[in-house]
Amino acid sequence: MSKDMILVTTPLLPDLDEYYQMLREIWDRKWVTNNGEFHQKFEAALCEYLKVPYISLFTNGTLPLITALQALNISGEVITTPYSFVATTHSLWWNGIKPVFVDIDPATGGIDPERIESAITPKTTAIMPVHVYGKPCRTREIQDIADKYGLKVIYDAAHAFGIEVDGNSILNEGDMSTLSFHGTKVFGTTEGGALVVHDAKMKQRIDYLKNFGFAGETEVVAPGINGKMDELRSAMGLLNLRQVDAAIEARHQVAIRYREALRPVEGIDFWDDMPGVRHNYGYFPIFVDASKYGMTRDELFYKLREHRILARRYFYPLISDFSTYRGLPSATRENLPNATRMADTVICLPIHHELKEKDIDRIINCIKH
Ligand SMILES: *Cc1c(COP(=O)(O)O)cnc(C)c1O
Repeated sequence: MSKDMILVTTPLLPDLDEYYQMLREIWDRKWVTNNGEFHQKFEAALCEYLKVPYISLFTNGTLPLITALQALNISGEVITTPYSFVATTHSLWWNGIKPVFVDIDPATGGIDPERIESAITPKTTAIMPVHVYGKPCRTREIQDIADKYGLKVIYDAAHAFGIEVDGNSILNEGDMSTLSFHGTKVFGTTEGGALVVHDAKMKQRIDYLKNFGFAGETEVVAPGINGKMDELRSAMGLLNLRQVDAAIEARHQVAIRYREALRPVEGIDFWDDMPGVRHNYGYFPIFVDASKYGMTRDELFYKLREHRILARRYFYPLISDFSTYRGLPSATRENLPNATRMADTVICLPIHHELKEKDIDRIINCIKH
């Protein structure tokens, strides 16, 4: 890779000396996983930072989705959106659940609550919305529908680390929310993830399920899986938690620069902050209107690439366009006009805590000319 390549993101990594000190402790204790000391401390620290009552750590962000569906006995059909990372729908497939795609609200990228009711059938058991780019879904309307029809709500909150609405964590919405601490996310532990739940009993159930279903040395209460986070990642999480606010602020500054520079550019659209929302600036999506901009999304995407700027087309293609899901009745473009349009026009520009001013200028100049 050439040296002046600009990447879409870069992992949040702790100071190596501090990390080494913690590794030293793990080596001394010789306790590397199974609810070790750093694991316990990391769960407690996350609850406090995220303002949530209970959290269960996982080894990635996909297993909490799969485990949430197991814990709530979800079956039949689940309503979700195709404008996400494939793991959202894959988690349904791995549970033998039929995904039913509903279109998105173009104002947020999240599920359009007004289209949910017509997708409900006698087989529907849950809704799995996604806080895409960390933009909060219309949670109140979603909950009203769920309550009316007796459905569970599991939020894929992989992008929503630290997102608050009027001072309240978005992670307290619905029945459960899942997080990803993958290296590409705002807050990471190399691989990692978590499930946010609202009561001690459910936390206990999740902790059993992520440990093969073991409730004691000889007692297995459910067919669980191995989803446990180890001590090395927990240590990294504890250290990264100390610097994540600074990283989010650095990303915020990048977003401010992009907005200032791109606002006058015709045919390039983007979102401003939502009132009352604490954002995490995990992504900076722009939407290309080819007729006004004079270039299609793909033309701009490849032009950026030629200039060694690796932007990403998140989320293109839609999940409903992948071979596994293409045949589903709800996977048609006619059913998903807003998601189709967004997937066809989006580019996520590079944004991370170490992006340099001169790199931001290079990106902006490339888009302007
Ligand atoms: C990253 C991501 C996941 C999966 O998380 P992993 O930690 O990579 O398993 C799930 N859903 C969304 C929307 C994501 O972006």
